[in-house]
Order: sequence, then C-alpha cells, then structure tokens
Amino acid sequence: MRRQRNAKIVATLGPASATQDIIRSLFDAGVDTFRLNFSHGSHEQHRERLAMIREVERSVGRPIGVLMDLQGPKLRVGTFADGPVTLAGGAGFRLDLDTRPGDVNRVCLPHPEIFAALEPGTELLLDDGKISLRVTRCGSDFAQTQVMVGGVLSERKGVNVPHVVLPLSALTAKDRRDLEFGLELGVDWLALSFVQRPEDIDEARELVRGRAQIMTKLEKPAAVERLDEIIARSDAVMVARGDLGVELPAEQVPAIQKLTVRNCRAAGKPVIVATQMLESMVNSPVPTRAEASDVATAIYDGADAVMLSAESASGRYPLEAVRMMDRIIQQVESGPIYRQLMEASHTPPEPTIADAICCALRHVTRLMHPAAIVTYTSSGHTSLRAARERPEAPILSMTPTIGTARRLAFVWGVHSVHTHEIADVPEMVDYASQTACSEGFAKPGDIIAITAGMPFATAGTTNLLRIAQI
Ligand code: PGA
Ligand code: MN
Repeated sequence: MRRQRNAKIVATLGPASATQDIIRSLFDAGVDTFRLNFSHGSHEQHRERLAMIREVERSVGRPIGVLMDLQGPKLRVGTFADGPVTLAGGAGFRLDLDTRPGDVNRVCLPHPEIFAALEPGTELLLDDGKISLRVTRCGSDFAQTQVMVGGVLSERKGVNVPHVVLPLSALTAKDRRDLEFGLELGVDWLALSFVQRPEDIDEARELVRGRAQIMTKLEKPAAVERLDEIIARSDAVMVARGDLGVELPAEQVPAIQKLTVRNCRAAGKPVIVATQMLESMVNSPVPTRAEASDVATAIYDGADAVMLSAESASGRYPLEAVRMMDRIIQQVESGPIYRQLMEASHTPPEPTIADAICCALRHVTRLMHPAAIVTYTSSGHTSLRAARERPEAPILSMTPTIGTARRLAFVWGVHSVHTHEIADVPEMVDYASQTACSEGFAKPGDIIAITAGMPFATAGTTNLLRIAQI
C-alpha cells in the first residue's frame, strides 16, 4: 500500500476517534501519524489508543508514527464562587495566589513564578485572547490589572503572557509524569508545548535519553525570536498556530509560518503546519474554500505534514476531514505550479558526504526519472537529507530499526519500510529492487537509484550511490 502524495497527514485522536475501527478508517483515508494530546484524556485512554494504533499497524503492515503532545506550562485561572463573571472594559481586576473562589473583582492565578516576571504595563490575555488585561501594579503574590478588552470569564480558562519570557521550564510536573508514561508505552515523537528558549529543548532531551525524537511546538514570541537556534536543537518543529495566534496578533502568523517552513526545510528538519486547518469541519462535512486554500498553501510551501486537531479528535466528521486533506494535497501536488515552487525554494546542499549523495540523487532523478529513490538508513538521517532535496521521485526508505521506520512516517515524500539487515552490495541491490516492486513503486525493467552507507548498519556512513535496473 502506497500513498499517492508527498506531504503527509497527522491527525489527533480523541473521543471522536477512539475505536480501533475508526483508527483503521482514518489510516486508510490517509493518516500517516497519530497525535495523542496529553492536554486531554487519562493515561489509561492514551494507553488504549496507542495499543489500537499498533494493532492497526500490524494489520496494514505499514509503520505508523505516534506523536505524544505534552500540555506544557499552560497557565489557567482558578474557580469562581458564583459561576462565570463579566469583566467590563476599564474595570479593575486582580489576580493573586489566594485559592478561594473568585468574583468580578479578583481570581486566583496559581502560578507564583508568574508574578515575579510581571511589571506595570504587561499585557495578559485570557481565554484564547478574548479578554485582555494590563498590569497596573504588582507584587510577589498579586497583580492589579485594568480590563482593556472585557468579556465573560469562566473558571480554569487559559492565561497567556505573550511578551515576557517566563521563568518556567517547558516541562511541568505533570509533563514529566506524562513523558515517562509515554516513553514507556513507546511513542515515537514527543512534542513540547510553549517552548520559550533553546535550553528548554536540552532539558527535555536529557529526560528522553534517546527514547523518542523531540518536536518543538512554536507558540511563543520568545521562541520565534530565536527560531534558528530552536530549529537546530529540535528534531522537528510544529507551527502551532492556535497558541501562536493568541500570543501574537493573528496577522503575524502567516509570515512566521512561511519563515518556519522555509528555515526547517533548509535545516532538513521535518515541519508540521497545525491548527484550524479545516476547523469548520468540526461541525460541517465540507470545509470553507479559505480552509482548503490554507491547507494548499502549506503544501505549496513544502511543509512535511499538515495536522488535524479538533477536526479528528472531537469533531463530527473526522474521516471526511482526512479525506479532504488527502484530496487537497494530491490536487496541489499534481499541478505544474507545485514542482516549480519546489525547485524555486530548493536550498543548496551542505558540504557533507550525505548531502553530496542526496544532491546527486536529485540530479539523477531529473535525468533518469527512476521509479524510486531507495535510501537504506538506520537513524533516518539519509532519508531526511534525501527528503530535504524535495526530489521528483518517491523516496523508499528502508530501515531495520522499527522506531526509525515509524518516526519517518510524516516526512515529506518518504515511504518508510521496516526491513531486515543487509550484508553486502549485491544483496542491497536485490533487496531494494524486490521492495520497490512489492511496495508498488517499480516493475521489472525500471530504474531505481539506491543510496546506503558502508559498512552496512552503521549510522552516519552514507557514502554509496548505485543506479540499478530491475
Ligand atoms: P494545542 O497546540 O492544540 O496543544 O494547543 C497546538 C496549537 O496551539 O496550535
Ligand atoms: Mn498550543
């Protein structure tokens, strides 16, 4: 079974997609990697969902990626004594550490670290930016604010502090428990929320100890300011437009999205565009034309994957949303403008052996139109560098490491296969030829371009390019 597209689909599981039959249907409809969102659901639910994904993986015989998304330091207000309060523009409103239920004059903000970082003039956004407060006075345990934009505030709503680097680790105590749990289960990717500094990624890496790869969610202005350092330290990046568009004015999100996709592609790090892509499909079987265009834009920019959140987790039309994404991607990729844009946005290779080979692969592809580019990889590096070239031929990635096979599932153009080890060059050619045929890429007589590293099964040795006729 092969997909007829380069860009991939990531879908979030939730109450609307919590049975094995639905997960199977989502996979068949086009999902390449599933996201488990640890902002919601119990450990037991996530354990069950992961088991169902692995069961589907067994029955379809294709590696499926699992992305565990940590909640991160999402700040929330406490509770109210008599239900939601209405904050009027111009009124005063106090945030403090007092855990007693709040009212129209005050509420608890149970995060002592925050108060130390505030100063008069700091802007606080509540409930996804619907309400805005400005700090007028503050101390170590309170902030007096003025309501700039009023609205109704109910308990446990989120608080964003956009323009301040908060003295918070990107990992809360809950995140640390979730992380251990998820890594025990065997997730392939770990997504970090509200990363503010490059060091946040190092901190997570120490805890992860190579058991998964790390994806940084770009949702804080501070992280955008240090974008390239963040990309360099991450294994992948997600443009998390939901919180990003709360922390920054919505009109700044498109440029940040484009810049992030471009810089990630240049660095050879997979990049996902996420949130509200087909939002209206939460309640409607068809998207708006603007949403279809938004998905297409991410594909034209060369993003590795587009993601569904509420659409697949809690919406009414999870399958329709996946099918719609699949169709949009195929439509975009089949037109002439797409190839022109891929060529125009190509970034030159770096002076390394792996890049020299991948660059040669791109030229071989133009000249010979091979049925597939076959990359033998153990860490996944060769396949990522090949994908970075955005070549015209599909990349058939072969690895004896199941974790690598799964992790590559959402990478642009990569058809990832879990294989056995190979011993020598003749076997390399035979096995690549067989696999290209059995996976539906080639038939006898076709040309394939194969890359591998000798000695075999040693990471970081890509040094061989072989062109073979099957
Ligand atoms: P979330 O992250 O869905 O976990 O909030 C994505 C985003 O903020 O866009
Ligand atoms: Mn978010």
